Amino acid sequence: MLGGIEAGGTKFVCAVGDELGNIVERIQIPTTLPGTTMKQVNEFFNRFSLDAIGIGSFGPIDVNMESLTFGYITTTPKEGWRNYPFVQTLKEAFDVPIGFTTDVNTATLGEITLGGAKGLDSCLYITVGTGIGSGAIVNGQILQGLSHPEMGHILVRRHPDDKFEGKCPYHQDCLEGLSSGPAIEKRWGDQGINLVEHSEVWDLEGYYLAQALMQYILILSPKKIILGGGVMKQKQVFASIYKHLPELMNNYIILPDLPSYIVGPGLGDNSGVVGALILAQQTLDKLK
Ligand code: ZN
Repeated sequence: MLGGIEAGGTKFVCAVGDELGNIVERIQIPTTLPGTTMKQVNEFFNRFSLDAIGIGSFGPIDVNMESLTFGYITTTPKEGWRNYPFVQTLKEAFDVPIGFTTDVNTATLGEITLGGAKGLDSCLYITVGTGIGSGAIVNGQILQGLSHPEMGHILVRRHPDDKFEGKCPYHQDCLEGLSSGPAIEKRWGDQGINLVEHSEVWDLEGYYLAQALMQYILILSPKKIILGGGVMKQKQVFASIYKHLPELMNNYIILPDLPSYIVGPGLGDNSGVVGALILAQQTLDKLK
């Protein structure tokens, strides 16, 4: 039996199951303060006998196993979670092998193993919601180096008619600052859910995301791109990306059929937590 945690800034999804995506039980816990949230995580997992746990966490996190702060959530602005020893805290409660990576990396792992990119050796998973994050698998490996990728914070060219100053606390008008859910809400003065009829909102969203995808495609050459997160539930954004991306690329490289190349998550809302179960199994396998 494996445990998986998809630790998001708004909610934690915990599941027990196996590496084939069979979930025995799953719960959602609001992300409040670490003491409260982790107590509920422990209570849930305590009911099972676990062999390993996989964690996909919001970040930034320290994934460098040589580092003294490996297993920590590091510079997050989220109250209570800054410099939080996530793996160490869980290890005190459960003395089993624990795998640790970003929430988007576990979602990427879930999608390439059992979801929309199944059978491929490379893919990109991007979530567009409260923030914008991305995980990449290249040649069958999760892409990691100096740290984990932070593809939501790349710079994009502004639309000439867009006067919104941007909302990223670090870079103001980076991709996340212009295109996250909160950026949409601030620019247009209403939540995305209430702007469904306003096609200009979603066209502009696709305009920025297409620029980002062009850069990711040119640099990483992924065989499949999966777009998840709350904003991507607006299917109009996909249509806008399919329109803008070929215009930007201008036949420089031949793009595959876009509606089958750039898709929603094959595992729906379970990509992250299923990926966490797979990570738990991989962590066990490494010890053999
Ligand atoms: Zn930024």
